[in-house]
Amino acid sequence: MSQIDDLQLLLKKLPGIGPRQARRFVYFLLSADAGYIHKLTTTLDQLRREKSLCSFCKRLYFNSNNKVLCPTCSDTSRDLSKLLIIEKNSDFENFERSGVWNGKYFLVLKNIGVTEDNPQNRLSLDRVIKEIESGSVNEIVTALSVNPDGEYTTEYISKQLRPYTETHNLKLSSLARGLSTGSEIEYADSETLKQALNNRK
Ligand SMILES: [Zn+2]
Repeated sequence: MSQIDDLQLLLKKLPGIGPRQARRFVYFLLSADAGYIHKLTTTLDQLRREKSLCSFCKRLYFNSNNKVLCPTCSDTSRDLSKLLIIEKNSDFENFERSGVWNGKYFLVLKNIGVTEDNPQNRLSLDRVIKEIESGSVNEIVTALSVNPDGEYTTEYISKQLRPYTETHNLKLSSLARGLSTGSEIEYADSETLKQALNNRK
C-alpha cells in the first residue's frame, strides 16, 4: 500500500468522510503550502496537549487551571441540579450557543447501537446515579438525536434512571417528542431546541 493510501485511510476515519472525499483531502494537503501544513500540525498538537476531559460530564475543555471539572460543571451561576444528557461535544456547543439550557450536561460520547451487546460496559451512568442519590441532581432531560441509535440510547437511559423517579423524586423527561424524526441535535436551530425543551415529556 502506498503512503498516499495510508494518508487516505487516516482521513477516512474523520466523521462523515468517505473514500473519495478522503482522497481529495490527500491531494489538497500534498499541494498545500508549507506554512499551512505547519500551522495545521502545530495547532492540532497544541490543542491535544492542552485538552482536558471533565471528570463528570466527559466534555473536552481547554486552558483551565481546574483539571478535574470543566468550567460548566463548576459554574455556580448555573442551576447545577438540572442535568441534560447529550451525545457529543458539538451538541454541547449547539445548546450553549442557543442559550436555552442553564443546567449542567452529561455526554454519552457515542449513542448505543441497536445491535450493540452489553451497553453497560461502554455507557456508565454511575456518576449520574451518584449525583441523584446525593440529592445534587433532581431533574434529568435526555436530549439525543431522533434516529434509531439515539432513541435506543434514550430508552436505555430512561430504563436505568426510572426507579429514581420513585425513590428520589427525580424528574425525568426526554426531548425526543419535541423533535421531528431524523433531527440531529448538532444541527437543530435554537427555536427548535427551545420548543423541544418546553415540550419535554
Ligand atoms: Zn463538565
